[in-house]
Order: sequence, then C-alpha cells, then structure tokens
Amino acid sequence: MQVTKRKIMDKEAPNRSTSIVNGRSSNILNWDDVRFSWAYPKYKKMLGNFWTPFEINMSTDVKQFPTLTADEQDSFLKIIGLLALLDSIQTDFAGKVADYLTDSSLNALMIILAQQEVIHNHSYSYILSSLVPKDVQDQTFDFWRTVPVLQERNDFVIKGYEAFAEEANVENMLRAIVYDVILEGLFFYSGFAYFYHLARKQKMVATSTMINYINRDEQLHVDLFVKIYQELLEEYPQYKTAEWDAEVQKIFKEAAELEVAWAREVIGDKIEGLDCEDVEAYVYFYANVRCNQLGHERPFEGYRKNPLKWIKAYEEVDLGKTDFFEQRSRQYTKINIEDNGFDDL
Ligand code: ZN
Ligand code: ZN
Repeated sequence: MQVTKRKIMDKEAPNRSTSIVNGRSSNILNWDDVRFSWAYPKYKKMLGNFWTPFEINMSTDVKQFPTLTADEQDSFLKIIGLLALLDSIQTDFAGKVADYLTDSSLNALMIILAQQEVIHNHSYSYILSSLVPKDVQDQTFDFWRTVPVLQERNDFVIKGYEAFAEEANVENMLRAIVYDVILEGLFFYSGFAYFYHLARKQKMVATSTMINYINRDEQLHVDLFVKIYQELLEEYPQYKTAEWDAEVQKIFKEAAELEVAWAREVIGDKIEGLDCEDVEAYVYFYANVRCNQLGHERPFEGYRKNPLKWIKAYEEVDLGKTDFFEQRSRQYTKINIEDNGFDDL
C-alpha cells in the first residue's frame, strides 16, 4: 500500500485528521481537536525537555580531558564522532517521515524532534571545540568515513531509511521505524554507557550531562516513533503477521551484533572499571526492550534485567534535585520526576 504526502492545505478536509497516513486533514493545527489523545501530552513533555549546550559550563572538562588515558581520549572522540553522524541523519529522516503523516499534530511533534536532533548535533561541536584543536574536531566528524566498524553499522541503518525515502509505502514505513528505534534506542547505548562510566568516576561530568539530556530526549523520540508504529499497524492490521514479527526480530539481532562489535572497538578491555561483557549484555538487554516496545517478541533469550544497574541513577536523574549533574546555569522547572518521560515508556 503506497502512502501519499500530506497536502499543504485541504479546504474540504476536517482539522482533525481521519488517519495517520493516507488520511484527510485540512493541515490546520488545533491542539484541542487532534486525532491522537497522546499527541498533546507528548508535545508538553518534549517542550519540557528543552535545553541548549550553552547552558553547560565546560571548564572542568577542559582541564580533565588531557588527564584521561590515550585510550579513554580515543574512545571519547570515536563515540562523539558516531553520535554526530547519527544525530545528523536523524534530523533529516524525521522530516522525511513527517511528510507522509496526514496529521498536523504529528508533523508538529516531528519538527520538534528534528529540532532536538539539531541541538544534539550542536552539543558535539560544542564539546569538541572546547576540548580539542580544529583539525581533531574535523577528523572526529569524519570518523564515519574512516572507521570500518562504524561504516558497517551506519550502512545498516541507512539502508532501512533509504528504502522508505525511495519508495514510500506502509511496509517500508514500518521497516524504517524499526531502524529508527534501533538508531535512537539502541545504537547510542554503548556510547551512553561509556560517558556515564566516566561521570561515575567524576570525569568529564559536563559532557556526560549533555549526554544525559540527549539520552532523555531520545527516550521520548523512541516512544513517539513506537506510537506512530502502533497507530500504523492499527490502521493496516494486514501487516501484523508472523513473517513480519520474525523479520523485526532478525533486524534487531543484526543490530545488536553491530552494536556489540562497536562496544568491543571503543570499550573492549581498555577502559578501566568498565567490563565490556557487561556492556554487551546491556546492548542485548536494550535490543529486547526496544523490540518488545514495538510489540514483537524479544529476540534474545534471557537478558531481561539491566546489567549496568548503576546507569539507572543517571538515566533517571531528576534535574531539579540531583547533585550529580548540577551543570546548568538555569533550570527549566516544568519537569518533575513523575513527568520526565522515563516512567511510562
Ligand atoms: Zn539525537
Ligand atoms: Zn532522536
């Protein structure tokens, strides 16, 4: 089933859309008259997450960076290089999906999502320009071209995205969302673990604060795409088949192996106090979580518990109360711990 692009305006159509794709909608946004009841709460949460890198004071990180071991510095830069590529393409991908959503409120959410990806990308430039000379910054932004294990995993996601960009149909849209959930909900995770590990040792806390904000945003992004996926399947139940279930599990298995290969490259046995086997188990655990969030069976036997328990504290940090990540010069007090997007995923 093909999907067609949303019209800029349709005078005859209602403001409340008739379907998530291939529906009718005037394209007027009235938050009090939208199709999906979850859209407005999501909008509020996404706005509540607002932050910019300018709020984070990098001075302690600037002093600490030269004191990291050569391996720690190398992994630090490689992970930033990876994240920069992922957030760059994600900005564009969000718009490509949004074009086909015949619902003005979901388009609005995708625009905010894309704006947040721009901020994530900005944070990497901000971190690098604080810590390393220009040639190293440029080199870091080119790792996706030069590091083979990175190329392989990027090609994997981009293949899934491009199929939809080239042929917009329901099946390719569902598949692209699976790849999206892998990008936003799995392919960041050994990188996140690395930065949280540094923060745990009181190293590079300003950088880790930004990573924590990015992690928090990504949780909301994953949840948004999961909801779009569920609504799509609701509209087109013919795609809920055993074959599709098996294909999604297979994609997650492949993705997890690529993420594990990446963890071995950047963490391996060279980061003191961070056991790569734990990070691998963390990757399998998240592959299970994400696949299950999409409504499919978990692809890996076992791996039901988070093996890096200590990360929880940082993921669920309450920005109003924590001592750990007190890097902000201003607080956005709109969020409380119950409403930070982690409890109801
Ligand atoms: Zn991002
Ligand atoms: Zn994202």
